[in-house]
Amino acid sequence: MNSCKLILLFLALSTGIPPVSSAQVGVAVQDNPFLTPYGTPFGTPPLDRIRNEHFLPAIQEGIRRHQAEIDAIVNNPAAATFANSLEALDAGGLLLGEVMAVFGALQGAHTNPGIQGLAKEVAPLMTAHSDNIRLNGKLFARVKALYDRREGLQLSPEARFLLETTYLDFVRGGALLDETQKSRLRELNRELAVLSLRFGDNLLAETNDFKLVIETKDDLAGLPPSVVSMAEATARQFDMPGKWAFTVQVPSMTPFLQYSTRRDLREKLHRAYFMRGDRDNNHDNKAIVRQIVDLRSERAGLLGYRSHADFVLEMNMARTPAAVDQFLQRLWVPSLERSKKETAEMQAIIDREGGGFKLASWDWWHYAEKLRQEKYALDDSSLRPYFRLENVREGIFTLCEKLYDLRFVPRKDIATYHPEVQVYEVREGGGGHAGILYMDFHPRPSKRGGAWSGAFRRQYYADGRRVAPLSTIVCNFTRPTADAPALLSVDEVKTFFHEFGHALATLLSDGKFRGRSVPRDGVELPSQIMENWALEPELLALYAKHYQTGAVIPDELVAKLRNSSLFNQGFESVEYLAASVLDMAWHTRTEAQPDLDVNQFEKRTMASIGLIPEIVPRYRSTYFNHIFSGGYSAGYYVYIWAELLDADAYEAFREKGLFDKATAQSFRRNVLEKYGALDLMTQYKAFRGAEPTLEPLLKRRGLTAQP
Ligand SMILES: [Zn+2]
Repeated sequence: MNSCKLILLFLALSTGIPPVSSAQVGVAVQDNPFLTPYGTPFGTPPLDRIRNEHFLPAIQEGIRRHQAEIDAIVNNPAAATFANSLEALDAGGLLLGEVMAVFGALQGAHTNPGIQGLAKEVAPLMTAHSDNIRLNGKLFARVKALYDRREGLQLSPEARFLLETTYLDFVRGGALLDETQKSRLRELNRELAVLSLRFGDNLLAETNDFKLVIETKDDLAGLPPSVVSMAEATARQFDMPGKWAFTVQVPSMTPFLQYSTRRDLREKLHRAYFMRGDRDNNHDNKAIVRQIVDLRSERAGLLGYRSHADFVLEMNMARTPAAVDQFLQRLWVPSLERSKKETAEMQAIIDREGGGFKLASWDWWHYAEKLRQEKYALDDSSLRPYFRLENVREGIFTLCEKLYDLRFVPRKDIATYHPEVQVYEVREGGGGHAGILYMDFHPRPSKRGGAWSGAFRRQYYADGRRVAPLSTIVCNFTRPTADAPALLSVDEVKTFFHEFGHALATLLSDGKFRGRSVPRDGVELPSQIMENWALEPELLALYAKHYQTGAVIPDELVAKLRNSSLFNQGFESVEYLAASVLDMAWHTRTEAQPDLDVNQFEKRTMASIGLIPEIVPRYRSTYFNHIFSGGYSAGYYVYIWAELLDADAYEAFREKGLFDKATAQSFRRNVLEKYGALDLMTQYKAFRGAEPTLEPLLKRRGLTAQP
């Protein structure tokens, strides 16, 4: 689940099951907390009373009510108006939305076999319900009638945005096609779904196919004890006790490439990694790549777009393939330069050591690690004592008070799904209620990995009154031990700030309608901008205090920390940008070419940007899961676009002062409050006075002109 993403609420929901009989409802209503008034503080879900058996009846009832609301809209004999169609559609599905929000939150943060089983039952119900809405011709006709005369409707900017995004959502799903075209579209979607699955299955098989098994200690040369014992455990998993194994999974492969002094074995392992799906065996992905690209291109044509990239980017801030290409190209040139300097630095080490060979792709991690130790060495254990979880939390609260005048009041009277969850009421400086924040910090078997921010309820208006949001932050941070409190790594500190930024966008949101549409390349703006403050000396002085002595983190440690962020940036930029360019090259193709040679195409594309042989793109076509199996086609660039945004936005604070209230107020009003309720680029320009520029990002990555 990526809770970073907001979606048009009603379209995310879905029907298609028979309504529950009134007898069933009668029984369910009485003791189903979802179907009776909560009677809780701030209308928070009664998590202490909700049990697994309550979900399905509540979801079925939610779908039934939602469908009845949709039917009432389409059967309304009056001509379509914004109020009787768009607004009514936007207001529908309230119960279903609430139940699904709780269900989704528990699925991620505190699941159990009952919930896992339910999820399989619920998914087809929701898909069918959402199809019933999307494919409802009468409903679309009302939306289109309004859209066609939108100029004359005198809508507010938010109402207009809702109308346009709703209309586009229908159209992009094929609502304007004739029956023959619609059936071809369904065919294409079906074929693409199958091919994506096959791509993923092949990749999995290829990834599992290779093991570097080590039988003699000599072959472990250079590896630190922790890596050796990890490899021993891996070998045991494969029933090879007494041996050591490395796989082409990144967490297993990278330490080997970093530390092993056995160049031949590094080559063997890295080759196995970058040849996945390209070995002309049963799991080869080349033909699938070609078919996926061709079918996507056909689908884009059917829907009236020049290419698949044009189709995808229409909904993003970048808007067009040309804008993305230009953006990538401007980053590419300095990144490539920097990576060449890094290559030279590493070659110098090889020569100094009398290696007698030219740096190759499988050598990069090894010599980068040597460079890191020479230039940027930093010991994690010397930093952690300054980042006690409670101190970091207070640091973030302080930051939010300085920027947005918010206060965080612990609430013990609000039910949670686990005793470790902390609940805060978020108040405005003037005393007004902004929302509720649930924070759940440590790993549990019932929690999935990673960190995310979601919501039990998103903000909306009911009868002109703001219904406050209920936001969540879920992490897997280091636990306290018997001897010490939870001491976070620097990465964990940044993650906390990051997720808190998502939560702020939820908590401060003040849109008139429930339907929100955030462009994929703008999803990380509120979160990533928060990361900038985490390591600012001015803020560190307020929160990064040694958990035993109370001393503030020393300046030289802070300086080292900030310098180390420039380490290996040429390589990281280049391998990432190369993959982004490859993604765009595949998805701007406009014609099918059944005899296209996938490897040749990739080679030509990489040659056209001058990629150096020492670096392999982060993903080659045959294992580029994000774009051929995940949802990131023509969208791998969004990660760095998000950085463009947050670096440029943060520059406003650098110019005016890191805690400047007026700048913060403008960011809040223009970006956070209407996030997803208006066109984000328009909002951004209102905040910044212009579209984002590249310089702050270049500076941050150390890619500006430098000695
Ligand atoms: Zn995020």
